[in-house]
Amino acid sequence: MDKITIIVPCFNEQEVLLALYEKLQKVLGAVKDCEFTCLFINDGSKDGTLDILRDLSAADHRISYLSFSRNFGKEAAMLAGLDYAQGDAVIIMDADLQHPPELIPEMLDYWRQGYDDVCAKRRDRNDETFGKATMTKLFYRILEVGSKVPVQRNVGDFRLLDKRCVAALCLLREEQRYTKGMFTWIGYRKKEFYFNPQQRFAGQTTWNYLSLTNLAIEGITSFTTAPLRLTAVLGLFVSFIAICYMVFVFFSALIYGDPVAGYPTLLTVLLFLGGVQLLSLGIIGEYLGRVFNESKKRPIYIVDEYDHRKMSYATERAVREKPLN
Ligand code: UDP
Ligand code: MG
Repeated sequence: MDKITIIVPCFNEQEVLLALYEKLQKVLGAVKDCEFTCLFINDGSKDGTLDILRDLSAADHRISYLSFSRNFGKEAAMLAGLDYAQGDAVIIMDADLQHPPELIPEMLDYWRQGYDDVCAKRRDRNDETFGKATMTKLFYRILEVGSKVPVQRNVGDFRLLDKRCVAALCLLREEQRYTKGMFTWIGYRKKEFYFNPQQRFAGQTTWNYLSLTNLAIEGITSFTTAPLRLTAVLGLFVSFIAICYMVFVFFSALIYGDPVAGYPTLLTVLLFLGGVQLLSLGIIGEYLGRVFNESKKRPIYIVDEYDHRKMSYATERAVREKPLN
């Protein structure tokens, strides 16, 4: 009997949790040859999410939960899920029913066929505004050009991972996480299959333009140093133009005796160079900031409660490093 852990990060999901639980129960009940555990990660919700999880886990031994001391973000919640998950494979899914549990049997089939990383690919995202869709496209383009690892397009975090993948992912403990890049980075045999994303069942999406932009910058800077290379190339290019222009100005003064009228050109060049320099500094700063944050070596999340037990960081680490069974 294969043991599968289903990891569900939850942030203010009180409206959907019971519906999700019912649906999971129905779908998982039909899969006879697997033993499921659902591990919910309460990512510092401000609503009744934690109470619902407590009740569920008290009533159903297959439900287990982990509660953070505050909101650490979905990436941290997913890592916590991977840290605490047990068994032969895990499935990561959103709480809001945008990832239909009906696909789980199909994912398990692919896993049995020998794939280590099965992920559901969105067919189209009709719930997205034009701006969001364009931004997403641009982001993937930059990532693809910049990185040498092939990027999986339009895949969400709905995926099944073999325990080998889980072990590999748990080794990647950078604080500023771009998990989607990590999935591709670890390699292993991957399988993508299509699904139609559902509308959010209830509640609000927590992503807005600002957080998406942040995620994009996060993704790019954690995945590739191409922007740094780009500034170097830009510098070379600008220097080359500058030298050509210098030669031109020098000889035109020499041959034609041009009384080189300087002000407008000078100002344009000055502003352009200033802009380029600030941009390069910004890019360097972005990477420097990452180095700064990583060098603090802080824990990525802090667990407050695990299946009705209050946790200190020391006990939490002991539990994480020595799984309970
Ligand atoms: N989530 C989380 N922490 C956060 C934000 C979101 O754990 O800080 C969870 C949320 O509960 C949901 C999943 O991540 O299960 C996806 O969030 P959401 O539906 O808001 O994102 P979208 O589907 O729009 O990408
Ligand atoms: Mg969602």
